Amino acid sequence: MSVLDVEALRAQFPALDQLVHGKPLVYLDNAATTQKAQAVLDALDGYYRGDCANVHRGVHTLSARAGERFEAVRETIRARLNATSTDGVIFTAGTTAAINLVADSFGRAFVRPGDEILVSGLEHHSNLVPWQLLCQRSGAVLRVAHADADGVVSTETFAAALSERTRLAAFTHVSNALGTLNPVAKWTALAHRAGARVLVDGAQAVAHLGVDLQAIDCDFYAFSGHKVYGPTGIGALVGKPELLEQLPPWQGGGDMISHVGYECSEYNTLPWRLEAGTPHIAGAIGLGAALEFLGGLPLDELVAHEDRLLERACAELDAIPGVVRVGRAPRRVSVLSFVVDGAHPSDVATLLDLEGVAVRSGHHCAQPLLERLGLPGTVRASFSLYNTEAEVERLAAALRKALRLLGVG
Ligand code: PMP
Repeated sequence: MSVLDVEALRAQFPALDQLVHGKPLVYLDNAATTQKAQAVLDALDGYYRGDCANVHRGVHTLSARAGERFEAVRETIRARLNATSTDGVIFTAGTTAAINLVADSFGRAFVRPGDEILVSGLEHHSNLVPWQLLCQRSGAVLRVAHADADGVVSTETFAAALSERTRLAAFTHVSNALGTLNPVAKWTALAHRAGARVLVDGAQAVAHLGVDLQAIDCDFYAFSGHKVYGPTGIGALVGKPELLEQLPPWQGGGDMISHVGYECSEYNTLPWRLEAGTPHIAGAIGLGAALEFLGGLPLDELVAHEDRLLERACAELDAIPGVVRVGRAPRRVSVLSFVVDGAHPSDVATLLDLEGVAVRSGHHCAQPLLERLGLPGTVRASFSLYNTEAEVERLAAALRKALRLLGVG
């Protein structure tokens, strides 16, 4: 497909074609999870119907077939993110598991009392709580480079929060709460200059941007399949193999070993050394299908389409009295957060749902950020490649109706 034909794309997502409360669904909760393309459903179905066997342990035909399909996804991920090697592509249950793997394993090997872990003030709880746990375990100190009222962490603030004690800086590529796009390559270079390692949380980036890990140069990059049109319960940690090589095993079990004795065991080589137990085989195969689907679309047009939707939605909401957008970073991706004067975000979201418009309300797992902004929560509409300008209009119309019903605005 050389031009983004959104109607043709929509037809590939069966879940979009349904009524909610008697109205055609407008799905604007893509930052929480995306809908799944037919190609992904077919891949899952194909594995379970035809190739269902465990990987790595069998010589029989089905096991070999499943293993080939499963292992091939590492290359799909490597290519999508322009990583250096499939040895550094570790399957995990998702972004959260990938970050916990690094916090636990890197933490045990490299973090000592008095060391510092630096996070940005825009983090999802998944990229905050694992570091808190690591600090409690290790005696390290958590530092925060806070966001300003626009939802921007300036590079000056980030640089000032680094010190010679910083062992690792962890920050999101795109904020799930406000949509802020962080200058991750610039921050990575600064952190490296300070002697720190870098983990980038890519949960909100991979579906919306071209991600080039060799250009960013971070040490670890985490993402989730379900936010890139793939299945839930699968994702990856993509790391520099030479650093992953130095990490002690995270979880013990099958596959991560090469020889097991009663006294001690020898561990497998990368990437399997960091993957214990039967993996989510179907999930990985589905994720591969999702990334291939995405890879078949013209990236520039996809980015332009989603930017257009976001810009149009901002303009529509700015024209509604009482609606205040939250997050005014100059470059935002996919996410529009807002509050309504005099109305609770969950009441707004409930009324939008009655119009068939699915949005999210609450703190979006970024409670410390919202508390600093003085907000209990926001309403969040998040856009994806299959959304349309007509759906943006449906959002605005539903919001005007909700405000009338609530007697505000
Ligand atoms: N980081 C960010 C920025 C996210 O948006 C999310 C999911 N909302 C996560 C981490 C956690 O992802 P998962 O629940 O798929 O592990």
